[in-house]
Amino acid sequence: MNIIHHLPPNIANQIAAGEVIQRPASAVKELLENAVDAGATEIQLVVVDAGKSLLQVIDNGRGMSEADARNCFGRHATSKIKAIDDLFHIRTMGFRGEALASVAAVSQVLLRTKREEDELGTEVEIENSHVLRQDPCQSPTGTSISMKNLFFNVPARRNFLKADAMEMKHITEEFMRVALSFPQVHFSLHSNGKELFHLDAGTLKQRIVQLMGSSYASKLVPVNEKTDYLTINGFIGKPETAKKTRGDQFLFVNNRFIRNPYLNHAVVSAFEEMIPSGCFPFFVLFLDMDPSQVDVNVHPTKQEIKFTDEKIVYAFVRSAIRHALAQFSVAPSMDFGLDASIQQLDAVAKPFTADKQQEATAGSLYKSFVDRHQAHRIETGSNLRNWKDFFDPTGSSSTSGSSEVGGSFNFAEPAMQSAQPNTSASVYKPSSSAQPLPGAVVFQQNLTYIVTSSDQSVLIYHQQLLHQQVLFEKFKATWEGKAIPVQQSMFPQAIQLSPADAQLLQGILPDLLQMGYQLEPFGSNAFLLQGSPADHVSENDAAVIEMILEDVKDIGSTLHRSYKERMAKTLARKHAIKAGKTLTVEEMRDLLERISCCENPVMHFDGKPLLVEMKGSFLSDTFQV
Ligand code: ADP
Ligand code: MG
Repeated sequence: MNIIHHLPPNIANQIAAGEVIQRPASAVKELLENAVDAGATEIQLVVVDAGKSLLQVIDNGRGMSEADARNCFGRHATSKIKAIDDLFHIRTMGFRGEALASVAAVSQVLLRTKREEDELGTEVEIENSHVLRQDPCQSPTGTSISMKNLFFNVPARRNFLKADAMEMKHITEEFMRVALSFPQVHFSLHSNGKELFHLDAGTLKQRIVQLMGSSYASKLVPVNEKTDYLTINGFIGKPETAKKTRGDQFLFVNNRFIRNPYLNHAVVSAFEEMIPSGCFPFFVLFLDMDPSQVDVNVHPTKQEIKFTDEKIVYAFVRSAIRHALAQFSVAPSMDFGLDASIQQLDAVAKPFTADKQQEATAGSLYKSFVDRHQAHRIETGSNLRNWKDFFDPTGSSSTSGSSEVGGSFNFAEPAMQSAQPNTSASVYKPSSSAQPLPGAVVFQQNLTYIVTSSDQSVLIYHQQLLHQQVLFEKFKATWEGKAIPVQQSMFPQAIQLSPADAQLLQGILPDLLQMGYQLEPFGSNAFLLQGSPADHVSENDAAVIEMILEDVKDIGSTLHRSYKERMAKTLARKHAIKAGKTLTVEEMRDLLERISCCENPVMHFDGKPLLVEMKGSFLSDTFQV
């Protein structure tokens, strides 16, 4: 018996749709790109329930004829290429003719479209890849496509969708990417009846400021280099715009947003020492090159592309950024140590004079960047440089470098080597029952360690890690409803954010309040910090809020427990006392009492031990009197 059969077209379409449309945001991308390809100057995006109930794009582009309105939903139906060769000259965003076919396979679609020259437009209703209805209709010139109930017929996919906040974040990202590449087009985004973005047509710089917030107006450095081979345009953020997440990095090739870690690296490496490690600079860069030098057809959503010569592009991008930073007195020093073929490129060969270099390092921006007290500086935590000394009375390892909190830390070999192999780390590993004795002697060592004892052992805690754990558990307790009291601020601080960040913050206000941060909306995209956690006065609460926002972006879903955990960790790290701080006996006793009440009194939330324990049995074995 033969067992092979052909899948019905609607099933085949559903399967193929999985490649193009994974979530509401992918449909947003396709529909916005179609509107741009249709020459629209005004494009509206409307979503309800993060696109799960409704996703609609309305444009004033050239519209479609009656027959095209029906045919556009066919597999491989496109007006953009005719032959394979056309692929290598492509200047439109779409070309595969798969988007609308996919849309029609996984949602209930209503298309309304009219061309300038037609009296009447056409309305097409389609579901499960079947046309239900096609009628003439009244319509302005242009096209409106609405998709209802995405994945209504693919429940497995529908269930796979994330919480609205997360899907909305993806939608906003796609929207921003398209909006950035077409600043000459007016865009708007409405979500659940509220206008989130209203972007008037303008220059790229204006568009960036509209999207990122007005504070960016003075923080952008233009990048413009031109060679026969390729051109780069756009803006990079001054070093102070660097953030902990990669979110705000936009690289476009021939106006198409692409993901390319290699080229992102070219940009980041050009900043070199100017931004703290682990931070990412802001950039919106457009590379333009002969379409025959790139292959955009390697991925169904066209976000991954191949360059004929990636190395040249890398070197070009890097030197263009260095050049821009130097011209705007942001870079401290320059090196053009590129290979010879790159050196010949026009952009690279431009002279960088000694005067300019002097100008660069003397610039006030550079100076202010070097200032270690600025808000974006990342604290490196305490320094455990003396850790080894503590175990090594001979001092022989005192120069063996430092290990910081946050890095891995090794237990040093004890000074008195014994023959057994277990005399290293394991000896000092605290047992889960290690508990400081309430009345025991307590003293501080090296301004970093709290030394005390349990009934049998000597206990040595790291004060910073200890306090972090105490605070972490305290912030964690707020999940079960134990809110941290708010201390009202005398001078509420205003925090100005980009529309996307403002939306994100809005979603976590209740959680922040639980943790003691009281924020109130204050005009568009700004918040007033009315109060912060009592007992935890921090000199820069706004920075703490920004750090938390970065955490949320990193983790994604605001409903997920891990996001709250991340928040608690950030707050604990931020508010804990540091190594090097003198503690009174009272303060140390207080800390020890609080750690004794913790759920995890021996292990830091990062998995590091909070203390070392010199057990009584180890002492007696060692001395063997
Ligand atoms: P592609 O964009 O790759 O050609 P799509 O499935 O996205 O494939 O669209 C199919 C065709 O439908 C397009 O080539 C275009 O001719 C037409 N089309 C789609 N959206 C629009 C629109 N908003 N305005 C006018 N024509 C459109
Ligand atoms: Mg398309």
